[in-house]
Amino acid sequence: MFDKKTVKDVDLKNKKVLVRVDFNVPLKDGVVGDDTRIQAALPTIKYLLDQNAAVILCSHLGRPKTAADTQYSLKPVAEYLDKLIPQSVKFASDCIGPVAEKAAQDLKPGEVLVLENTRFHPEEKKNDPEMAKQLASLADIFVNDAFGTAHRAHASTVGVADYLPAVAGFLLEKEIKYLGQAVSDPKRPFVAILGGAKISDKIGVIRNLLTKADQILIGGGMANTFFKAQGYPVADSLVEEEALDTARALLETGGKKLRLPVDVVIADAFDAGAEFKVMNMGPIPDGWRILDIGPDTVSNYSKVIAEAGTVVWNGPMGVFEFPNFAKGTFGIANAVAESGAVSIIGGGESVAAIKQSGLADKITHISTGGGASLEMLEGIELPGLAALQDK
Ligand code: AMP
Repeated sequence: MFDKKTVKDVDLKNKKVLVRVDFNVPLKDGVVGDDTRIQAALPTIKYLLDQNAAVILCSHLGRPKTAADTQYSLKPVAEYLDKLIPQSVKFASDCIGPVAEKAAQDLKPGEVLVLENTRFHPEEKKNDPEMAKQLASLADIFVNDAFGTAHRAHASTVGVADYLPAVAGFLLEKEIKYLGQAVSDPKRPFVAILGGAKISDKIGVIRNLLTKADQILIGGGMANTFFKAQGYPVADSLVEEEALDTARALLETGGKKLRLPVDVVIADAFDAGAEFKVMNMGPIPDGWRILDIGPDTVSNYSKVIAEAGTVVWNGPMGVFEFPNFAKGTFGIANAVAESGAVSIIGGGESVAAIKQSGLADKITHISTGGGASLEMLEGIELPGLAALQDK
């Protein structure tokens, strides 16, 4: 259920519309790498143009300290967008102040303007009301379509909504619908697969999903902390000592819902070329470390995934950047793609894995937001969503 107003609920004709998009894309030497987030913003941009709105896009990119960090300029992104849509795309070298005001004033219905990186102003991250007001002064309506930043209360995601009618774009709506439904009203059995490096990032998610999911399948580095909490020596495996008590508590409340790998791939170094072997889970020999889940675990987990009604996956099952330790992650990717379940993948690394495996088109929904999707799974209300007008 989506109870916020969207672009469909407001009159956009000949209006100036400020859209917060998530153009936080990988840039190398001024060239856009993965353009998923730009593509994902197009439906809203096209709809606004069809409505004859003047479209002003703003976003952050990376973590610049000041405007002098020009490698974080959005100009290359504006140029990239210019090639993607028939309309010509203008660029303003600041997101507020005289340059932005002039560019916004001159912008005509049916035209597109990209503003410079909002984080070139430190006020952005402080959700400074003055900055929010200045951004708002550029337009008549505010649209938030930046799911990837919706968990941050910043001037361009939350503050600006105090000064303009504020509604959701199609991407934000879609993300919230899929992730929200998975958590609140999933087709069962609801299976969550959690991996990645650290358990501490996902404690809140595990806690919340223990009350919602039917099974939680654990892999990746975070499994090691659970193993250690169970009393296994894990040798040189990545472990979070400070999370051991929490891991113990989760194992206790989780009971049979929380599943751990039954076998693992261990290596004699953290290296692509390391010596490696598969072993049933047990004490890890000195000098070795766990870098992937084993084949029996892939097979057990795959059976659970095949029976699922809903699957949510966040975090790789091993160090999949090294081919010898990628079998677990790709095995799970395969199982998720083959399953008839509603499948949702979030988090940068698992999304990268599913794309690498060429199975992305078999997934129901691939989220554009790592942190934001985790907060959804944790059951936290996203500030960027909360700030929008109710239906
Ligand atoms: P995250 O950003 O938390 O999803 O973590 C992703 C990273 O976890 C990937 O870069 C993996 O290489 C890493 N990872 C997965 N399994 C392990 C493991 N067993 N030991 C160390 N790192 C791991």
